[in-house]
Amino acid sequence: MKQILSNSIREDSDADGFLFSLNCTECGKNWHSTPIHFSKAGIEPKSEFKETIYRTLYRREQQRAREQAVAEAAHYFNRCPLCGRLICNDCFLVCDDLDMCRSCAEELHETGEPASFAGWARD
Ligand SMILES: [Zn+2]
Ligand SMILES: [Zn+2]
Repeated sequence: MKQILSNSIREDSDADGFLFSLNCTECGKNWHSTPIHFSKAGIEPKSEFKETIYRTLYRREQQRAREQAVAEAAHYFNRCPLCGRLICNDCFLVCDDLDMCRSCAEELHETGEPASFAGWARD
């Protein structure tokens, strides 16, 4: 699940901080991660050596922010086992035998509560 999320998540980071977003393929709702500030945001490096250090620091914090965003997204998104799409908790139904997205449920005449309603999230 983490790998799928990591591949699908969009990065909207800039020089000041890190932000990631993801769309529900069913309802189109846009989710974004909690923004994280770059620790050196707005600080001008005093030398090219410092610049190199800041750049490396940025990449490290960016990597960490991405992992955090993926972990966060896992609480709001599910992968439908039938169509394979990433679906938000509002469009993902907890059904009797197999949990699935709204479209698949309709097609297979299944009913269930949205995962968000059931207060349920999968890792
Ligand atoms: Zn949705
Ligand atoms: Zn589906």
